[in-house]
Amino acid sequence: MERNVGIIGLGGVGKMICYSLMKENLFNNIYLIDINESLVEAEVKDLTDGSLFSSFSKFKKGSYNDLTKVDFLIISAGISQSSTSSRLEQVDSAVKIFDEILNNLKRINYDKFIIICSNPVDILTYYTYKKLNISKNKIIGSGTLLDTNRYKIILSELINVPFNNISGYVLGEHGEGSVNLFSSTLINNVPLNFYLKEHNISLNYEEIEEKVKRRGFEIVEGKKATFFGISECVNYIIKNIIFDTNNLLPLSTISIKEDFAYSYLVNVNKSGISFAKENEYLLDNIEKEKMINSKDRLIKLIKDKNL
Ligand code: NAD
Repeated sequence: MERNVGIIGLGGVGKMICYSLMKENLFNNIYLIDINESLVEAEVKDLTDGSLFSSFSKFKKGSYNDLTKVDFLIISAGISQSSTSSRLEQVDSAVKIFDEILNNLKRINYDKFIIICSNPVDILTYYTYKKLNISKNKIIGSGTLLDTNRYKIILSELINVPFNNISGYVLGEHGEGSVNLFSSTLINNVPLNFYLKEHNISLNYEEIEEKVKRRGFEIVEGKKATFFGISECVNYIIKNIIFDTNNLLPLSTISIKEDFAYSYLVNVNKSGISFAKENEYLLDNIEKEKMINSKDRLIKLIKDKNL
């Protein structure tokens, strides 16, 4: 059975997603779309040159009509990240870009999976849901999957425990409004607080949360972009859907009241994403309050911008 994917936006993020998916051999055809047509032509050639020894996927310059043949669509169109402006400050220009893309998707009645990683990702996930007639389990924002990895990397380095022995999540808004769930973090299967006491380690949770939020900006300061982390997140989301894993992942999803989107733990399987029942046990009071602030900030922005 043929399986195809489309990618809209071929900057640093989009092309890295292409490369990451190519290595997996999951797709017969990878359709590339960008407003910069000569960029697409060049990337198709370069990716094809790079794929011959390791992949059977074919790269093609795509049109919106080609997207009627895809099972997954990834949107990474946008403007490069800045180390000085927040992700939410980019909202007006990002919505303008999305208006063009979503109008084209409406025209072809696109109704398969959409994975959004353009920023501000939670706002754009919500906006995509509002504009397209697609069920909410198929509209997926990369959300705080990357922030969660960053949290576990930072914690792992601070306490010298392997990344894989840490279970913990970051939820809420991707970036500035994200919330680290310290209270449910497990180190070697022991709750973080107990572990720290037992090993006589003192950690400043606020500082760690701040470090997680700053990490993307630090990368942008050093190399003007971030793409390895996010492209592997997109790859991982797609594999969880294709292989019907039912894994719990922190991804941006449309709220129950359908008035905003941000990351919560969702089950991921071949039907897409759905709210996980376990969510209600996750948060302590401080974390609950931070999640409410994160949500209020997003809802206010949606109302202010009339999205
Ligand atoms: P970039 O500037 O390198 O690339 C953006 C690409 O989008 C360009 O090639 C541009 O031509 C294209 N584009 C713009 N408008 C378009 C349109 N209407 N239709 C099709 N293509 C269009 O930026 P980047 O570094 O690749 O980042 C892309 C997006 O991903 C940004 O919004 C960035 O903030 C976001 N990002 C998200 C995460 C995350 O964790 N969610 C991480 C890194 C970057």
